[in-house]
Amino acid sequence: MSKKLTKREDDYSKWYNELVVRADLAENSGVRGCMVIKPYGYAIWEKMQAELDKKFKETGHENAYFPLFIPKSYLSKEAAHVDGFAKECAVVTHYRLKNAEDGSGLIVDPEAKLEEELIVRPTSETIIWDTYKRWIQSYRDLPLLINQWANVVRWEMRTRLFLRTAEFLWQEGHTAHATKNEAVEEAELILDIYANFAENFMAMPVVKGLKTESERFAGAIETYCIEGLMQDGKALQAGTSHFLGQNFAKAFDVQFTSKEGKKEYVWASSWGVSTRLMGALIMTHSDDLGLVLPPNLAPIQVVIIPIHRNDEQLDAISIKVNEIVKELRAKGVSVKFDNRTTYKPGWKFAEYELKGVPLRIAMGPRDLENGTLEIARRDTLKKENISQSDVVNYVEVTLKEIQENLYNKALNYRENHITEVNSFEEFKEVLEKKGGFISAHWDGTVETEEKIKDLTKASIRCIPLNNSVEEGKCILTGNKSTQRVLFAKAY
Ligand code: AMP
Repeated sequence: MSKKLTKREDDYSKWYNELVVRADLAENSGVRGCMVIKPYGYAIWEKMQAELDKKFKETGHENAYFPLFIPKSYLSKEAAHVDGFAKECAVVTHYRLKNAEDGSGLIVDPEAKLEEELIVRPTSETIIWDTYKRWIQSYRDLPLLINQWANVVRWEMRTRLFLRTAEFLWQEGHTAHATKNEAVEEAELILDIYANFAENFMAMPVVKGLKTESERFAGAIETYCIEGLMQDGKALQAGTSHFLGQNFAKAFDVQFTSKEGKKEYVWASSWGVSTRLMGALIMTHSDDLGLVLPPNLAPIQVVIIPIHRNDEQLDAISIKVNEIVKELRAKGVSVKFDNRTTYKPGWKFAEYELKGVPLRIAMGPRDLENGTLEIARRDTLKKENISQSDVVNYVEVTLKEIQENLYNKALNYRENHITEVNSFEEFKEVLEKKGGFISAHWDGTVETEEKIKDLTKASIRCIPLNNSVEEGKCILTGNKSTQRVLFAKAY
C-alpha cells in the first residue's frame, strides 16, 4: 500500500485534498478550477441524486432541461441578480476558430463574432423565467414545479475539489405560484427535504436558518439555508432555498389571470444543492485512515475478501461467499466480492478502509471449516467473529447502527461546538481556540457584519429558524439586539 494520508490534526486541508484523490473520488483536470469526478465519487453522487430526485418527485416536482447558454440581455434584466453574478461569468463571444495565417496555430476567427454574447449559465433563473412567460397565462397553469439536473459555471478564483469548483453539478428547482404564501411554503418545504436528506442519508446534522442580507442569493427576497459543521470547526453551507418574491416575474413580465380575472405577477422560489455535498460528506465523517461513508450513501456497503493460499482454497471459499452474496443482495444490500488474485488481502483491507466501505468481511479456510467469518466495521474499526448463518441479520442490523452512530457522533461534535458568547473578546477567543458555531448578539446591520468579518474572518452563517426572541447587546457595537445569530469561519 502506498504511504499514509496526512493526519487531520497536522494539516486538515492537505488531508482533505489527499483523501479525495487517494479514495478515487475526484482529481484536478487540465482545466483550471474544473475537476474530473471519478467513477467511485460519481457513484456516491448518483446515490445522492437518486434519493433527492425521489423526494422531489414525491412532492410533485418534474424534471426538465433548459439551455446551457443564456443571452447576455437576459442576465441583465433583474438588477440584483446581474450584480451578484456578473463578476464570475464565463462568456462566449465567438463561434468559430481558424488557422492563423502565420502558421502559429488556431485562433478565434474575428469574423465569427456573436451578435449577442452568451453566458454559460451560473444559475438558470433568467432563461427559465423567459420560458415561463410562454407557459403561464392563467391560475390553472400554477403551481409550476420544475427541477433541472445540470452543470453550471461560476468563475471562482479560489477553487477546491467538490467544495468550490468553477464548473459544478447540481440540481436547481424553479417554481411558480399564484400567491406569496405558496411560494414561501415551497421554499420551506424544500429546505426540509434538504435537511432530512442531510441528516438521514449523509448522517450530517444541519442548522436550518435564514441568510442575512449580505449573504442572500442575488435576486432573492429571502434565502433559507442548511449549514453543517465540519470536523475542523469550520461551517459549510450545504444547500439553499430562495423565496424570490415577484422579482423574476416582473423582470420577465410573467403575469397570470387570477380566478377573479385580475392580472397578477407570479410568485417564485428557486433552490439548489450541488456536488459540494460530496465535500460535506467527506469532511463530516472521514478519519486519518480515509473515507468513512454512511451506509445509506455507500456504493459498496459490504466487501468480502477471501484469504487463501491457493486456487483450491479460493474455489471452496467462493462457493460459500457466493451464497452469502446472493442472500445479502436479496435483502437490498450492495455487496462486492473482491476475489482478484492480483492483490493480496492486506492491500485490499487498506484499500477498502481508504474508500470508506462500511463493513468488511474476511473469510479464510479455517472459517470455512468452522462456519464462521470475520466482520469489521469501518466506523469503529472493531472486528468480530460471527457464525456464517448469522451474517445476513448481522449485516442488516449493523448497517443501521453505523448510520446512526455516524450521525450521533457528528451531532455530538456539533452540539459541543455551538458556543454562546456575550462579548467581542470572548468571541475572538472561542473562534481562535475552539472554532465551531458561535451564538452571539448582532445589531442587524450589514456594516457590523462586515466589520466582524474583516476583523475575524468569521461570517454570519445564518439566523436559525428555531430562534427565540432574546434581548441583548451586539457583541461589537453594544447596540440593541433581539436575537442571537450563528457566526463561524466557513468554507
Ligand atoms: P446558490 O445558487 O448560490 O444558492 O447555490 C446553490 C448551491 O450550490 C448551494 O448549495 C451552494 O452551496 C452550491 N454552490 C455554490 N457555488 C458553488 C461552487 N463554486 N462549487 C460547488 N457548489 C457551489
